[in-house]
Amino acid sequence: MSTTDLDDLVDAPAGAGAGGLDSWRTLPAAQQPSYPAGADLDSVTAALRSMPPLVFAGECDDLRTRLAMAARGEAFVLQGGDCAETFAGTTADNIRDRVKTILQMAVVLTYGASTPVIKLGRMAGQFAKPRSSDLETRDGVTLPAYRGDAVNDYAFTPEGREHDPARLLRTYHASSSTLNLIRAFTTGGFADLRRVHEWNRGFVGNTAKARYEVMARDIDKAMKFMAACGADFEALRGVEFYASHEALLLEYERALTRIDSRTGDPYDVSSHFLWIGERTRQLDGAHVDLLSRVRNPIGVKLGPSTEPDDVLALIDRLDPDREPGRLTFITRMGAPRIREALPRLVETVDRAGGQVLWICDPMHGNGFESPTGYKTRNFDDIVDEVRGFFEVHAALGTVPGGVHLELTGDDVTECLGGFEQIDEAALATRYESVCDPRLNHQQSLEVAFLVAEMLAARAAS
Ligand code: PEP
Ligand code: MN
Repeated sequence: MSTTDLDDLVDAPAGAGAGGLDSWRTLPAAQQPSYPAGADLDSVTAALRSMPPLVFAGECDDLRTRLAMAARGEAFVLQGGDCAETFAGTTADNIRDRVKTILQMAVVLTYGASTPVIKLGRMAGQFAKPRSSDLETRDGVTLPAYRGDAVNDYAFTPEGREHDPARLLRTYHASSSTLNLIRAFTTGGFADLRRVHEWNRGFVGNTAKARYEVMARDIDKAMKFMAACGADFEALRGVEFYASHEALLLEYERALTRIDSRTGDPYDVSSHFLWIGERTRQLDGAHVDLLSRVRNPIGVKLGPSTEPDDVLALIDRLDPDREPGRLTFITRMGAPRIREALPRLVETVDRAGGQVLWICDPMHGNGFESPTGYKTRNFDDIVDEVRGFFEVHAALGTVPGGVHLELTGDDVTECLGGFEQIDEAALATRYESVCDPRLNHQQSLEVAFLVAEMLAARAAS
C-alpha cells in the first residue's frame, strides 16, 4: 500500500442526508444473514462505526489510478487469495505464505508483461460467502449452510451454524490484523525484489519444470543487467499491496463507510477494492445501490448468463462518469464458454465507450464435484480459460487487464493437475478449504509462468 496522508475520515450518519448511503435498505438484498430474534445487530454496527478505518481514502484513489493504467494495458492486475478466509486461518505463517506466493507470481508476471503488476489480495476481509442453497444436509441432518466466518461457523452443529452478528466485529479485527501484517511484510524488506527472485529460483530449481527454466534464466539475466546498471535495489525493498473482498454483508460495509472530509465523498474503508458477486449484482438490488455511492474502485463478477444490456446498465449505475479505474468487470465464464460468451460483452462495452478494466476469474466457472465428493477444479481448465480470455481480447484489440485467482501459499490438494499431477485420490490428503478449491503454492507459480508467457506474446505482437 502506498503511503498517504492521514485522511480525515468521519462517520457517515445514518438516514437521509448521507448521500443516499442508506437507500439500499429499501431494496431487495440477496444473500444476507438471518439473525435470530433478540440478536443485537445494532450494538455491533454501532461498535463498527466507532472503529478506525482499515484503509484510507487516498489509498483507494491511488489504486483507482493504478487500475486505470491496467485498463489501458499499462499495468496488469494480480488479484488472489482464499475463497473464504477464516478466523482460525488468520495466523502469521498463513498470511506470510499467501503474500509470498502473490509476490513471487507478481515478479514473473512483471517480467512477462513488461509493465507493473498491481498486487490485489483477496485478503483482509474475505470472510463472507454467498451460497446457492440456504441449507446443507449431511447424513439426514439439515442445518443452515455455512456462509463464511463473518456469519456462522463451519462446524456442522445447530449452534455453529446459527447466524451471529458478533462475528462482524471479529471480522473487523481479523481483517485489521491481516492488513497490519501485510503492511509490515510489504514495506519491511520481506518483499525485496532480490529475495523474491531467489524464491522463484528455488521453485524452478527444485522440480523438473524445464518449460519455465528459460524464463527464470531470463529474469536472472535481467536482474544481473539491472545490478550492472547500478539499479537501486534498496528502493525495491517495498511494494504496493492492496486488499479486496466481496462486499456481501451490507450492514458491515455500511458501518465501515465513512465520509472523507477533504472532499465530502463516501468511502467504504473496509478495503481498498470491493466487488459485487455474480449472485448479488441485480440492477435494482441493494448491493449495486450501496456500491454505486462509494468512491472506492469497485468490481462486478460476470457469469455466462450475462447479457450485453446488463453490462451497459451496470456501467450506467456504477460508473456514470466513465471514470477510468472506477469499474472492473471480473468475468467467470468457464473454459468451454469463454470464447463464445465474452466477445459480445467486450464489444458492447467498447462500442458504448465504457472505460472498464477486464479481469479474468478462471476459477468460478470451472468447478465440479469429484466422484469422491470434493469440490474441485482442473488446473488445465483454469489455464484454458485465461488463454481464451487473452484470445478474445487479442481478436478485438482490447486489453486483458488481469487475473483473479483463488490460491493459498500452502501445499494443499484442492485443485487437480499441475506439475505435481494432483489426482482425485490425492484430493483427500490435504483438502483444507472451507469453500472453493484453491491453487496451491506450486500451482499458483505455474499459472504465473503460463500467464507470463501469454503476456510476453501479447507484448511482442
Ligand atoms: C467468489 O469469488 O468466491 C464467488 C463466490 O464468486 P462469484 O460471485 O463469481 O460466484
Ligand atoms: Mn470462491
